Amino acid sequence: MSDNNSNQPKLTPVSELGEFGLIEHLNKNARNSNASTLKSIGDDAAVIQYEKDKVTVISTDLLVEGIHFDMVYTPLKHLGYKAVAVNLSDIYAMNATPRQITVSMAVSSRFTVEALDEIYAGIHTACNTFDVDLIGGDTSSSRLGLVISVTAIGEAKAEDVVYRNTAQVGDMICMTGDLGGAYLGLQILEREKQVFLADSNMKPDLTASKYLVARQLKPEPRNDIIEILRNMKIKPTAMIDISDGLSSDLLHICNQSNVGCDLFEENIKLHPDTLETAMKMGLPPFTCALSGGEDYELLFTVNPKDGERLREIQGFSIIGRITEATKGRYLYTQKGVKHELVAQGWKHI
Ligand code: ADP
Ligand code: MG
Repeated sequence: MSDNNSNQPKLTPVSELGEFGLIEHLNKNARNSNASTLKSIGDDAAVIQYEKDKVTVISTDLLVEGIHFDMVYTPLKHLGYKAVAVNLSDIYAMNATPRQITVSMAVSSRFTVEALDEIYAGIHTACNTFDVDLIGGDTSSSRLGLVISVTAIGEAKAEDVVYRNTAQVGDMICMTGDLGGAYLGLQILEREKQVFLADSNMKPDLTASKYLVARQLKPEPRNDIIEILRNMKIKPTAMIDISDGLSSDLLHICNQSNVGCDLFEENIKLHPDTLETAMKMGLPPFTCALSGGEDYELLFTVNPKDGERLREIQGFSIIGRITEATKGRYLYTQKGVKHELVAQGWKHI
């Protein structure tokens, strides 16, 4: 009996590989045969080149009901806006300018035309805000919930594109805005959902948590940062948007650039509401920033002389230094304790 079983090929659960392991596994045999493919899998967006001096960047993201959003607390207009915003964030993370999007949707019969109008109101608001054109997509029915996929297309001068794999030893590590807010916003929404499910007469009062909830429901891609850097004639050496959490995204830069890093917790910027709410909820505030994700800020490395100039400017924080690969990747906590930097999901904490 057990002998029969041993003849069966061993099947691997997807969870054994994790998201990044799975992407790597599925694409290990992929080979590019077109000279126009400058960068394929592995960055915030792919880069292709059809004409001299100019490139096109393309990024796609999928939002799935029950995985990426919960209909109980996600206003449809915000959902449409966010589906576009997260893609534009990837285009800005390449130091490029988004120009067009396509939108594909699978819709279950629970959704009325009026509900879909709301989603599209959010999509159009994002298109107007960031000056991009909606040029196509696909529509299907779905048996289980709503799925939205947006593809964003942008352009850049070939010399302006910033990849993840070009950080240099000695560079400063810089983050924009503040981190951890989107994760705490989600915790607040989840908490209010439980209260609502227990007693549907309870109306959640989210006014005190406005900032954090907005960080979760309505992320703003940082086109303003790209503009500031351009005006200051600063080109980052490597860049990524912070979608998975600071630790995970900094490790992407380190792994792909084959460098190490020293990251200083005390320099990571937190909003006062993030600090206060994390304390109230009994969550370590810096862990929200390091592992929370979905803040859609930019993380980049710069030559130290550019880093010194950015240090003076509000909205930029110098949080560490790129080191040689052999030095390892380390986080120095506020108390001065040195830890290896790990891409930690909350479930492991
Ligand atoms: P981001 O968080 O910046 O959106 P992801 O972590 O989703 O990036 O993806 C990392 C890289 O893997 C990207 O280059 C993306 O295009 C690629 N990728 C993701 N899923 C697949 C897939 N199923 N097949 C091929 N490439 C994929
Ligand atoms: Mg990205």
